[in-house]
Amino acid sequence: MTHPAQPKASHFINGEYVEDTAGTPIPVIYAATGEQIATVHAATPAIVEQALSTAKAAQTAWAKMTGTERGRILRRAADIMRERNHDLSVLETYDTGKPLQETLVADATSGADALEYFGGLAASLTGEHIPLGEDWVYTKREALGLCVGIGAWNYPTQIACWKGAPALACGNSMVFKPSETTPLCALKVAEILIEAGAPAGVFNVVQGMGEVGGALVTDPRVDKVSLTGSVPTGKKVYAAAAEGMKHVTMELGGKSPLIIFDDADIDNAVGGAINGNFYSSGQVCSNGTRVFVQKGIKEKFLARLAERTGNAILGDPMDEATSFGPMVTENQMNIVLGYIEKGKEEGARLICGGKRADMDGYFIEPTVFADVTDDMTIAREEIFGPVMSVLDFDTEEEVVARANDTEFGLSAGVFTKDFTRAHRVIGNLEAGSCFINSYNDAPVEAPFGGVKASGVGRENSKEAIKHFSQVKSVYVRMGDVEAAF
Ligand code: NDP
Repeated sequence: MTHPAQPKASHFINGEYVEDTAGTPIPVIYAATGEQIATVHAATPAIVEQALSTAKAAQTAWAKMTGTERGRILRRAADIMRERNHDLSVLETYDTGKPLQETLVADATSGADALEYFGGLAASLTGEHIPLGEDWVYTKREALGLCVGIGAWNYPTQIACWKGAPALACGNSMVFKPSETTPLCALKVAEILIEAGAPAGVFNVVQGMGEVGGALVTDPRVDKVSLTGSVPTGKKVYAAAAEGMKHVTMELGGKSPLIIFDDADIDNAVGGAINGNFYSSGQVCSNGTRVFVQKGIKEKFLARLAERTGNAILGDPMDEATSFGPMVTENQMNIVLGYIEKGKEEGARLICGGKRADMDGYFIEPTVFADVTDDMTIAREEIFGPVMSVLDFDTEEEVVARANDTEFGLSAGVFTKDFTRAHRVIGNLEAGSCFINSYNDAPVEAPFGGVKASGVGRENSKEAIKHFSQVKSVYVRMGDVEAAF
């Protein structure tokens, strides 16, 4: 019997599913059980060529359509995604292991928001008129051309839409490569775009590991690369793109600070720390994994945190009561368990969790360490799992310096009732996406992205338009041309 998650074929090119079984088989494993639910094949060089040449050919006509026409297609795709939210959420859960309780509200819905938002903007991508006496300059916002999107495994539907929607709104075409760990969801995005009326070849999906990504990034026909992934991969992809002078957006990892002052509402701060560490079992790039708590409220905070973390429901991700799922793969589980051991060895105080859960699948208990110091491995490296490090501090000046003492700069948060302090602290933190008395909200209207090693460029909001388009300026002379001879 074919599993419901088995896609019709591995790739989606020129408006249809395409298979080439000569490519390396990639098993798709359901993280909650370890069961193989599907197989796709990595793209062969012939598939990569087919996808790139198709996307290149389709782009010109797509860019010539009016923004209103392109926008209508994207908004229709958003409606279809919302109508099919339940089925798409089940597929997302199979792909990632994340509980349905989350995928029903955070994945296809967030993808649909991006399609709707950028669909709405497509018709208003205008330039400027710059008067110069009798002459003038006008500017036009033009598409970049052929864009490559490369995704991480934690939000496969959302990442495909966060890259595809602004790219298409601006008149670009895209070849998208999902992570080999979660190959299924992006195929559905491609299918839905065609159903909504997108011309064949405008949005294509090919499967594969790093070498397929590498082949896409280095192809001379590609004008832009948008990657969501780790810092080491980002450095490689950025360097490869630079060889061809291509535009880039890099959404990379983090080790973000969440700072809780002693005047904060404790329950809200605990809620923020839970959302910023345990949503998607901690597999979120912007997580506030260094939780700095001012000394006066430290033990009260830890007690309430342990109590509420004890309410997490680990179990069958398809059961909507389950609030905490497994790690995406066995390998990721082992990496995270390795970090937990490091935390114990280096002297952090284990408050709760700290081991693999006693059940099938790749579950790790939500884990909190206290008395973490800045030099500990768990305070320095991105873990990408449910491991919260609580560090304590005395003064604002001290905590800001310690929070900034990292190569990363994706996100930062502050909990305090003193709004002057909140804005001052956020102003002094080196991070791209920040929160005051909240954590990890990512509405499509807000720019998202990091500074320092956490990335280049921004996704979402009007900022994303700048990263998927370029400005042409045109000087118009009304009089005669003066020349020296
Ligand atoms: P990786 O960096 O391992 O991979 C990201 C993608 O790049 C995958 O599709 C991967 O393919 C591909 N890839 C790997 N090597 C190359 C290469 N040389 N050339 C082109 N493509 C390549 O990240 P993970 O998938 O493990 O995701 C976790 C990371 O993503 C974390 O660091 C996390 O912080 C970050 N992330 C950042 C987000 C943000 O918006 N800032 C959001 C979500 C995650 P494959 O894996 O199939 O080999």
